[in-house]
Amino acid sequence: MRKIPKPTVDVSLVYDACLSGIGNVDKQSRFVSHKGNVLYAASEYEKKAFDSEIYQIKACDECITVPLVTKDEQKKLYVEQMAKLGRPGRGYYDILRGAARLCPFCGISSVRTLEHYLPKAQYPDLAVVPVNLIPCCRDCNTEKLDAKIDGIEDQNIHPYFDDFTQEQWLFADIIDLYGPSVVFRVKPPAAWSSKSQYKVMNHLTTYSLDERFGDLGNGEIEGVRKEMTDLFDDAGSQAVKTQLEERAASYAERNLNCWQMALYQALANSNYYCQGNFG
Ligand SMILES: [Zn+2]
Repeated sequence: MRKIPKPTVDVSLVYDACLSGIGNVDKQSRFVSHKGNVLYAASEYEKKAFDSEIYQIKACDECITVPLVTKDEQKKLYVEQMAKLGRPGRGYYDILRGAARLCPFCGISSVRTLEHYLPKAQYPDLAVVPVNLIPCCRDCNTEKLDAKIDGIEDQNIHPYFDDFTQEQWLFADIIDLYGPSVVFRVKPPAAWSSKSQYKVMNHLTTYSLDERFGDLGNGEIEGVRKEMTDLFDDAGSQAVKTQLEERAASYAERNLNCWQMALYQALANSNYYCQGNFG
């Protein structure tokens, strides 16, 4: 997970740009009348996200007032006037998408799209709100379900508001599965608030990162097999352990919670692996 700067793109400008592309005068006028609701939703979102209380935002099926614009109309506003090439809001889409090269959720794939942190199907007032739109890779975008966030325990890491880069919470274990195999797990620091602990604990499952990191990690174990075998034959178990620790420390400099750091740390801590079981 990587933190990225909160966008400075103004919600009012984005909304107006998207509205300018609507050809139907009646529909455009209803969107104009609805603008206050969107600005209020954006303001509440910022406050709640800052306090990790985004779960308190109500999904649209819990709204008690009849909206001026329908849920489908708001979803289409994003799809047809912001995400579509050549449409008036597309310039803002490109600015938001261009804010990161690597996906902040997985840290392994390039950014290709924008992810609605709160899905537009459930929270249509936030469909074109910049702080709800996060640059994201295709895999993470596909894996995340369009689910409501009902409680503290459902919240995920928000790359614009959360910084979980200072302490280690991603770990791995080496198991003997017809040779060494890696399994990733989350263990948040005990001193963290429950809000923060839930966010990192949800992170692997929300984006299927346990499987995706596992595939990469097991490929890496195969890739260094010859190197570790030669080192073990030349210099023994301690030399292997030292090499693995150095590699973990090097990755930790870059990102304390990247899969490579957790993998090499787990390999260095595995007596089974360091004693010559390289697969
Ligand atoms: Zn990703």
